[in-house]
Amino acid sequence: MDFRLTPEQEQLKAEVRAFLEAELAAGGFQPTDNSWMVSYSRDFSRKLGARGWIGMTWPREYGGRGRSYIDRFVCTEELLRYGAPVAAHWVADRQMAPAIIAYGSEAQKREILPRIIAGEAVFCIGMSEPNSGSDLASLQTRATARGDEFIIDGQKVWTSGAHLADFIYLVARTDPQAPKHKGISELIVDMKLPGVSTRPLIDSSGDHHFNEVFFDGVRVPGTALVGQLNRGWYQIASQLDYERSGMERLMSNYLLYRDVFQYAKQTIRRGKPLADEPSVRYLLGDLAIHYEVGRLLLYRVAWVLSKGRIPNYEAALAKVFCTAFEQRLADAAPRIMGLHGQLLPGSSHAALEGRAAKGYSFAPGYTLQGGTSEILRNIVAIRGLGLPAS
Ligand SMILES: Cc1cc2nc3c(=O)[nH]c(=O)nc-3n(C[C@H](O)[C@H](O)[C@H](O)COP(=O)(O)OP(=O)(O)OC[C@H]3O[C@@H](n4cnc5c(N)ncnc54)[C@H](O)[C@@H]3O)c2cc1C
Repeated sequence: MDFRLTPEQEQLKAEVRAFLEAELAAGGFQPTDNSWMVSYSRDFSRKLGARGWIGMTWPREYGGRGRSYIDRFVCTEELLRYGAPVAAHWVADRQMAPAIIAYGSEAQKREILPRIIAGEAVFCIGMSEPNSGSDLASLQTRATARGDEFIIDGQKVWTSGAHLADFIYLVARTDPQAPKHKGISELIVDMKLPGVSTRPLIDSSGDHHFNEVFFDGVRVPGTALVGQLNRGWYQIASQLDYERSGMERLMSNYLLYRDVFQYAKQTIRRGKPLADEPSVRYLLGDLAIHYEVGRLLLYRVAWVLSKGRIPNYEAALAKVFCTAFEQRLADAAPRIMGLHGQLLPGSSHAALEGRAAKGYSFAPGYTLQGGTSEILRNIVAIRGLGLPAS
C-alpha cells in the first residue's frame, strides 16, 4: 500500500493552502469549527468554484473537472484544516450533485450544477420529520401529483441551513397506498415558493443552525422530480452513502484539535508545560492516534469511490469511528484545560477557552446527524460482516 500522494496531488494541496493563507491574510474569512455546517459565504464558494474546487469529480460537460475522489479529499481536507466558510456549497457538492448526475434530468443537470459551482444554488437536506428519523421510510410529508404539478404538504425538522438555502432536496411520499419504501420520491423545491416557511431551532450550543420547515399547499412543477416517481427510496440509499463519506466526519472540530495541542505545549503549570503532565500526555496521545486512524479510514472511503464504487459499510464504519473521535476530542479539550475549558464564548479570555465549552455542547450531534451510530453499526454488521439482518 502506497500512502503517498502523487506530485499532482501534492501540488493541488499546496495551491489550496496558498489560496487559504492569502484569504486569511486579507481577512477574507474567520476560521470556524463546524464551518462546513455553519459558515456560509456564497462569495467564498464562488471563488472556490472558479478555481475548480467545487464539482471536482463531476463530468466536465456540467462544469465539473472530472478529477479523482482522492483529489477531492486532498482539497476538502485543507479547507477543513483552515475552518474555511464552505457551508454554502458543501452538501450540494457532496450529495445533491452526485444524485442529480446519477438520476436527474438533462435539464436539471444543465441548470443546477453550474449554479452550485457559482455559489448560487445553496441546498439543504429535507429528510427528517418529527416522527421519522432513523426510520426515514415512515415519512409523512406528501407530494400529491395534480396535472403537471405536485402539491406538497407536511413538515421537516432538524434541517441544517434551511433559513439560508435556495433549494431543499425534499424526500416526500408520492403514493400513500404503496408499502412504505415504495411510495417515496425526491424533489428539488425552491425555498422561495409560496407556502414554504422555516422556523429556527436553537441547538445545544445556543446557536441557530437548524430549523423546522413547513410546506402548506406548495405547488411545484412536475420537472422538480428527481429520477423516477416512487423510486426515491432506492436513490436515497446511495445519497446517504455520499453523505457519510467525507473528511468532515473527522474534522468538524479540527481547529479545537490543533489548538488544544498548542495550548498544552504553551501553558505552564507548576513550572513545566501542561503537555508534560502524564495525564494530559495520555489524553493527547490518545487523540492523535484516533485522529490518524480516522484519517486512514476516510482515505479508504475515497479509494473505494475512486474505483467507481459507492462506499456503503466502509462509509458507515468510518463515520462511526470518526464522529466518536470528534466527541472524544470535545470531551478531552475541557479536561485538558481544566476550569478554563468551561468558560463560555464572549468571556475576556483567549478564543480557545470559549470554543472548548461551545464545542462540548455541540458535540452530541456528531453521532446523530447523517445517521446515528447505532444505525450505522447495523449497516457494518449486515453489509460489512454479513451477519443476519434479524
Ligand atoms: C446537528 C444535526 C444536524 C442535522 N441536520 C439535518 C438535516 O439537515 N436534514 C435532515 O433531514 N436531518 C438532519 N438531522 C437529523 C438527523 O438525521 C436525525 O436526528 C437522525 O437521523 C436520527 O433521527 P431522530 O433524531 O428522529 O432519532 P430516532 O430515529 O428517533 O432515534 C432515537 C434513538 O434510537 C436509536 N435507534 C433508532 N432506531 C434504531 C434501530 N433500528 N436500531 C438501533 N437503535 C435505533 C437511535 O440510534 C437513537 O439513539 C440533523 C441532526 C443533527 C443532530
